[in-house]
Amino acid sequence: MFRQTTTTALQKLRRFGLNGRQHTWRLKGTSAKERALQYHPGEKIHGFTVKEVVAVPDLFLTAVKLRHDKTGAQYLHAARDDSNNLFSVQFRTTPMDSTGVPHILEHTVLCGSARYPCRDPFFKMLNRSLSTFMNAFTASDYTMYPFSTQNGKDFQNLLSVYLDAVFFPCLREQDFRQEGWRLENENPSDADTPLIFKGVVFNEMKGAFSDNERVYAQHLQNKLYPDHTYSVVSGGEPLAIPDLTWEELRQFHATHYHPSNARFFTYGDLPLEQHLKQIEEEALSRFECIDPKTEVPAQPRWSCPREDHVTCSPDPLAPDPT
Ligand SMILES: [Zn+2]
Repeated sequence: MFRQTTTTALQKLRRFGLNGRQHTWRLKGTSAKERALQYHPGEKIHGFTVKEVVAVPDLFLTAVKLRHDKTGAQYLHAARDDSNNLFSVQFRTTPMDSTGVPHILEHTVLCGSARYPCRDPFFKMLNRSLSTFMNAFTASDYTMYPFSTQNGKDFQNLLSVYLDAVFFPCLREQDFRQEGWRLENENPSDADTPLIFKGVVFNEMKGAFSDNERVYAQHLQNKLYPDHTYSVVSGGEPLAIPDLTWEELRQFHATHYHPSNARFFTYGDLPLEQHLKQIEEEALSRFECIDPKTEVPAQPRWSCPREDHVTCSPDPLAPDPT
C-alpha cells in the first residue's frame, strides 16, 4: 500500500509542469535508482517501450532498456544517484574503403545544423556550457557523440545541440573542404606557390600515422579481419582521403545517421522521461523505420597461417645495427 501511494505521488511529480514546460531539477528526497525500478516491461513512454528493467546493485544503479516504437532506435538508461549526468548517441558506421568517411563526417556534422546554422555550434558550446565533458569519437565500426554535465538545463541545451548536429546537420561543401580535404596554395596569398593537400582530418591522420605503434596496430587489425569493414582505415588513410567526394559524405550520413541505426545511452539522476520526451520531439518523431544494413558478418576462419610485412619510419630508440 505504501509503495502504491509512493508510486502515484511520483507519477504526479513526474508530470508536474510549470506553465506547460517540464522542469529540469531533480526530484528531492527520492532515489533515481529506486524510481527507475518502478518502470515495467511494456510500459510506453514518449514513443518508446520499456523492454527490460534490471537492478545492478554492484554498480548502485538500475538499468532500463527501451526501444523506440517507430524507428527501432535502442536506448539504455542507467539510473544512479550521481549528479554527473551523461548522454551519448552512437551509430554503427561500417566504411568499406579507407577514405575516412566516418571520421570526416564526425567532424562535419559538428560544423552547423538546421536549428543551429552558426559556424561550429559544438565548439561554441565548449566555452559557454557547464559541461564536464564534450567530444566525439570515430572507431572501426561505430561513431559516438557523448557529453556530460551536472546541470539539468545545461543537459537539455547540449542534448538539443547534439541531436540537431547528428540528425539534421548542414553538411555544407565548405565544411567538407575544411574538415576533409582540399587543395590550397602553400602560401594562400600567392597563387604561384605549389598546390598542397590540406584539411583537418587529412592532417590529423598524417599525424596519427607518424606514430609507429599506430601504424602497426592499424595493419594488425586490417590483416586479421581482411573480409569486411575491419580491413579498412575508418579514420582515413592520408593517401586515400582525397578520393572522397562531398556527395559520398552526404550519402554516408543518410544511410548511417538514422535512428534505426542508432543506440542512445543516458546515465545519472535526471529523470528519464524528460530525456525521452526531448529526443522524441526534437528528432525521432521525424523519421520512419529503415533497414540500415550495417551489420558486420563474422570473419571466416583462416585455414592456414598468413604472413605480412609492415614498414614504418625508423625507431629512434632502436640500437644501431652497425
Ligand atoms: Zn578527428
